[in-house]
Amino acid sequence: MLDTLADPLSMLPTWELIDEIKSEEREVSRHRARQVELLRELERRTMRDPSPTTLAADLDVSTRTASELLETARRTPELSDRFQKLQSGAFTFDRAAALARLFAAGAEDETLAEAESHDIAGIYKLRSLTKRVRRRDERKAHAERHVRTWTNLDETAGFLSAQLTSIDWATVTAALDHRADRLPGYETSTREQLRADALVSIAQDALDGALQPGTSTGTVVTVMVDAAEASHTDCETGASVTAGPRIGPDTLDRLLCGGSAELVVAPETGYPIAVGPTTRVVPPKVRRVVLNRDGGCTIDGCTSNYRLEVHHILPRSRGGGHDLSNLTTLCWWHHHVDVHGRGNAIDPDSPPHRRTIVPESHLPP
Ligand SMILES: [Zn+2]
Ligand SMILES: [Zn+2]
Repeated sequence: MLDTLADPLSMLPTWELIDEIKSEEREVSRHRARQVELLRELERRTMRDPSPTTLAADLDVSTRTASELLETARRTPELSDRFQKLQSGAFTFDRAAALARLFAAGAEDETLAEAESHDIAGIYKLRSLTKRVRRRDERKAHAERHVRTWTNLDETAGFLSAQLTSIDWATVTAALDHRADRLPGYETSTREQLRADALVSIAQDALDGALQPGTSTGTVVTVMVDAAEASHTDCETGASVTAGPRIGPDTLDRLLCGGSAELVVAPETGYPIAVGPTTRVVPPKVRRVVLNRDGGCTIDGCTSNYRLEVHHILPRSRGGGHDLSNLTTLCWWHHHVDVHGRGNAIDPDSPPHRRTIVPESHLPP
């Protein structure tokens, strides 16, 4: 009697727990086998296949589960050994479904027999080897290739969606990974973020042509600033790229730092944020001196030499000038992503060759 008061699960030895989990899975197989039988009968009566979406909605399961059920019903003959093994619980439903898909892909009996000794991942691998790639499949994939781009409503983010043929997809993902592996940000960024950085850097290379390290001046864009608007919101409003997207203060700082923007101030206000074309870039001689002096990215521990750029320690928007003491060399990733992308700044008190990065709010006002 005392036993019934204690939690019976906590009394079970571990091996029994595992055994019971396994036997419940065999029970699931038996229920799935019954569903498969019922579905077959249903298809016979209605003379047409229920769609995976309808079945998924009826059963409140994922479309993947629904289409596995349908595929298994269609591809596992009632009298077959495979069906009996599902019924008896010797096969899990996942195994039976994987075998049904292998059969649907056109596998011969020999392959099916071989597959029974594989784990489920192995069966799917066999299936991808068995599945025929027809010319028309390849041509369809080629004809459907595309890259779509769009921005969100406030134009602070852009999106890409792409479909490529498998070989082109392999080229593109290999190139993204190759470039991402060479960016120094792996400790502070996710793989997806690094791939995004890689894509941007490849695009930048393409726009600039073949580049020698340290020769990048960036693409020059014209930024329109409505000074009356910008002055009372710290540039959160009023700035946009001519015939292009809206930009905010971080991007403005970056464009001004790289000398890649010329500012045009709304003439009616005449508010003086203007940076004329003659002073917009760091003079080439100063650039060379800074790049030579620093010999590479000055961030502590960084060894990247990729697209070295000259950065203004006190941002230009806050009055920082082109004087040598305000300039430091950064690699593309530290400059574009870690500093300007994240709204960070170089700690002006850090040693010139072991620079550290701090939030911009840490800069002296
Ligand atoms: Zn900069
Ligand atoms: Zn760096």
